[in-house]
Amino acid sequence: MNKLKVKCPKCNDNARFYRQRNRKAGSDFPNDLILECYTCGFRSYSKVAFATIEKYRIAEEERQLAISAELKIKKAKETKRINLEAKLAKEAKRVAKVKKLSEEREIAKILAEYCKWKECDKSRRINSIYCSTTCSNKNARDRYNKRLAAV
Ligand SMILES: [Zn+2]
Ligand SMILES: [Zn+2]
Repeated sequence: MNKLKVKCPKCNDNARFYRQRNRKAGSDFPNDLILECYTCGFRSYSKVAFATIEKYRIAEEERQLAISAELKIKKAKETKRINLEAKLAKEAKRVAKVKKLSEEREIAKILAEYCKWKECDKSRRINSIYCSTTCSNKNARDRYNKRLAAV
């Protein structure tokens, strides 16, 4: 209880409070309570001292509550910031993936306009993936050779 900081009601310097050591019969709490200021010599007893101490105890309690509320808000804000950053990173990843996919699709679309034979850069014929039967044959031969090599 003595950890609580209490001010002197008279001079507002730090005051002490304690319970009388030699308690008389019946002089129990808060009747045995003494609030004392060493600076100005002020003293108050029992319920009056108790009222002063209570005032500071309640103020201290409210201060602690405000601190814990502030900490909770701060923590919540930090959590939100972290969540937000994670979300943003995820979104950036998703956008990059979509971008890459559409890029690949665009490239595939462009390539689809050309002859399929890897060494040919001519446009394909309508209704064919090759520009000519020559390229078609080259590609077939290539595929056949690859299959032979794999065996
Ligand atoms: Zn005082
Ligand atoms: Zn070709």
